[in-house]
Amino acid sequence: MIPRTGIGMDAHRLEQGRPMWCAGLYFPDEPAGLEGHSDGDVAAHAACDALLSAAGLGDLGSNFGTAEPEWAGASGVTFLTEVARRVRAAGYEIGNVAVQVIGDRPRLGTRRAEAEAVLSAALGAPVSLAATTTDRMGFTGRGEGVAAIATALVVARSTD
Ligand code: MG
Repeated sequence: MIPRTGIGMDAHRLEQGRPMWCAGLYFPDEPAGLEGHSDGDVAAHAACDALLSAAGLGDLGSNFGTAEPEWAGASGVTFLTEVARRVRAAGYEIGNVAVQVIGDRPRLGTRRAEAEAVLSAALGAPVSLAATTTDRMGFTGRGEGVAAIATALVVARSTD
């Protein structure tokens, strides 16, 4: 069986006073949250796109767009659970997902293990989480938004 990799990226704008959800966790002390129709969880969204990419199933927009309005506003973790279901239904086992969050906020370092546990439980496979900053450059460095990038590995389920 030949493994397949996938890649995903997401970015959301920071908005003052909005609840901050990132990597499946709520950050009650953050003054700004991620804007979007959903919770704006860039880490979960990037992970979803990486998984869909690996399985050749399109992306979040093509899977949960206007044709499936029942998914509007779903949380990042809810999307991740459903994407995992769709990837497995398409005949793939999920190896792992790696996510890197890019931005100064929220501070993920002290809650990394907790976030990995939440995302891994939603996926039913290991999710590793990392974070980085961009040295005050670009939209993430200016605090305008948060980005995330992810890779995923899947393997077609054996048919014998
Ligand atoms: Mg998104």
